[in-house]
Amino acid sequence: MTTSAETVRVAVPRPLHALFDYSIPDGLATPVIGARVAVPFGRQRLTAICVARNPPDAHSTLKPIHAVLDDGNAFGDELYELASWLAEYYHHPLGEVFGTILPVAARREVELVIHHPETWQRTDKCADLTRAPKQQALVDHFESEGGVLEATQLREAGFKRAIIRAIAGKGLIAPTTFAPPREQLASEVPVLNSEQTLVLAALIEHLDGFAPSLLDGITGSGKTEIYLRLIERLRAEGRQVLVLVPEIALTPQTVARFQQRFGVAEVLHSNLTAGQRLQTWLKCKRGDVGILIGTRSAILTPFANLGLIVVDEEHDSSFKQTDGLRYSARDVAVKRAQNLGIPMLLGTATPSLESLLNAKSGRYRHLRLTRRAGGAELPSFHLLDIRGHKLADGLSVPLQQIINRHLGADGQVLVFLNRRGYAPSYLCPYCGWQATCSQCDTPMTLHKTPPALICHHCARRETPSSSCPACGRQSPIAIGIGTQRAAEGLLALFPDTPLYRIDRDSTRSRRRMEEQFQAIRQGQPAILVGTQMLAKGHHFPNVTLVAVLNADGGFCSADFRAPERTAQLIIQVAGRAGRAQRPGQVWIQTYQPENPLLVSLIEEGYESFATAELESRHRSGLPPYRPMAMVRAESRDTALPIAFLTDLRTALAGEFEILGPAPAPVQRIADRNRYQLLLLADNRRALHLGLHRLRDKIAKDHPVSANLRWSLDVDPYDTF
Ligand code: ADP
Ligand code: ZN
Ligand code: ZN
Repeated sequence: MTTSAETVRVAVPRPLHALFDYSIPDGLATPVIGARVAVPFGRQRLTAICVARNPPDAHSTLKPIHAVLDDGNAFGDELYELASWLAEYYHHPLGEVFGTILPVAARREVELVIHHPETWQRTDKCADLTRAPKQQALVDHFESEGGVLEATQLREAGFKRAIIRAIAGKGLIAPTTFAPPREQLASEVPVLNSEQTLVLAALIEHLDGFAPSLLDGITGSGKTEIYLRLIERLRAEGRQVLVLVPEIALTPQTVARFQQRFGVAEVLHSNLTAGQRLQTWLKCKRGDVGILIGTRSAILTPFANLGLIVVDEEHDSSFKQTDGLRYSARDVAVKRAQNLGIPMLLGTATPSLESLLNAKSGRYRHLRLTRRAGGAELPSFHLLDIRGHKLADGLSVPLQQIINRHLGADGQVLVFLNRRGYAPSYLCPYCGWQATCSQCDTPMTLHKTPPALICHHCARRETPSSSCPACGRQSPIAIGIGTQRAAEGLLALFPDTPLYRIDRDSTRSRRRMEEQFQAIRQGQPAILVGTQMLAKGHHFPNVTLVAVLNADGGFCSADFRAPERTAQLIIQVAGRAGRAQRPGQVWIQTYQPENPLLVSLIEEGYESFATAELESRHRSGLPPYRPMAMVRAESRDTALPIAFLTDLRTALAGEFEILGPAPAPVQRIADRNRYQLLLLADNRRALHLGLHRLRDKIAKDHPVSANLRWSLDVDPYDTF
């Protein structure tokens, strides 16, 4: 093959920081920056991204590329720039960043084109169809439904393909590319209360230019209503809107509200096929999608005309990706809004300390909603001192009485504990043997239906033995409480009350989960037992009691973020109580009723708690006051990761405050030993300079090895 003098530099989807140069064979046009190209790489053929044309320092003997896959920039200029920023900020290989952004279906050598659904339009022709009643019915259907319909809509309405073809053959309908008009469901739009009115007015003042706002509003204060009004405004101007939510399966009501209000809102959820995902991506890029609702990765969608980003429940940890490109969708949203010069709205009842500090320092506007919309009252909080109490499946006698009282008054009761399974440990009362995962060294959780010991880190399963595998003298017993056990205990105490258990084990089927939520919303007295899945965004109007079985663990953990996380969880789950006419109560069982963090949260509220936490972070020099990064290393061998991290520590002394090497919170997962180094710098610039030195050091002294894997996490979330 002869080649022209043209060359191209590409990023390949491999964990390599290097970029690679290729020549352009005669007959191929030089790709533009951002275009996908097929290149030979080793013995493989990869889809790479063009990052430079004719780089001045390219080698003279280069392999030719195989093909140019796009005429234009596949990402669009703005998203392409964001990719470069992501690679630098997270110190992640550019090729892998592009690989993360591209929908799976676009990583193959396919043309990126939008497929129009087959759509038919009624023409002005007439025909006598008295002898073809089915065809007549279809023509009538067109007349009554507005004249434009998609083939899928027709089939759903019961018209067979043959009938469609028959009337098309007579010229009564013709194919069209116009989309059928969507039905705008008449939904009741509430009149904003005075607080909402002020907040909305403040937001509308800053619709041009970068304007980040923290919408700090208690649960049920009408934040979603504010989003809807603001979006209405932007849609009227023809702008696109992106709404990020933590988990779509858990917030079907939020999505339904958007669809009701606007007739149409695209949703990026996990049930889409790769092809559907790509179609949504392309339509957003072309500007065909007005509102996109999605989880974390939706922040990496291209838009033609984005006018607003909303991050709902901005404190939620699911916005942080925990492997590969470890980005925070919330932080990327801020960067993107800044690049685009558009407003951004972070909404929550329990702001992350990061966002709260930004609001306090004036970088974000701090907008507050302090009352529940629609007049519902906030629940009252009570601590239940359980020192010296005997608990039955996690429930003290006073708590049983309180539950009984609420059920007797026709209320629903939500029992919260953050542990799924039956019991977190299974041990021998004679010799002390405990079931632990042979791959991870962590206790295995006992599950009852079906009976199994399951490792929650690597999902390894074993059958529980009826006699102790160590001494054989007694049968092991279940210690501690998981949701299955609490549910069993509650069912025994309240056999006539319907009970719904909601955790990751009970909600594997989405349909079943929806059925459960439907039943709960009917409002009959019922008990709901579940994990944090119950804390997120649900509106169960008849819950009058929220019982937290144990809040203590989170306030005395080694993880510096644990108090923040626990407080958010308590406030969020408490927010499920008393959302309608009847006031709610929150009861928290505790062995530490005087714990200052717990008392401050209960008596003074989240903001006061969070302000005290911020002061404590400030004193300790922790995020959000100083930026942090984490290096993790893992190997089957214990010595290797420690030696690797110790070497880094020595090389980087002086650049950072360094903690470790220390074992990762779960030291062994799937037979790999995991260690970590935490790096704290005085400012972002220092952090980035130090991380560049760290990468150079690794590149120089630690060649890629199959025995040792390492990763870098900038702004890590789970560190202890
Ligand atoms: P949040 O997002 O803060 O939890 P929502 O927007 O979901 O709050 O509002 C909570 C409930 O109050 C919803 O049922 C909503 O329809 C209703 N609501 C919101 N604003 C108003 C209002 N101004 N008047 C009456 N009801 C309202
Ligand atoms: Zn034993
Ligand atoms: Zn395991």
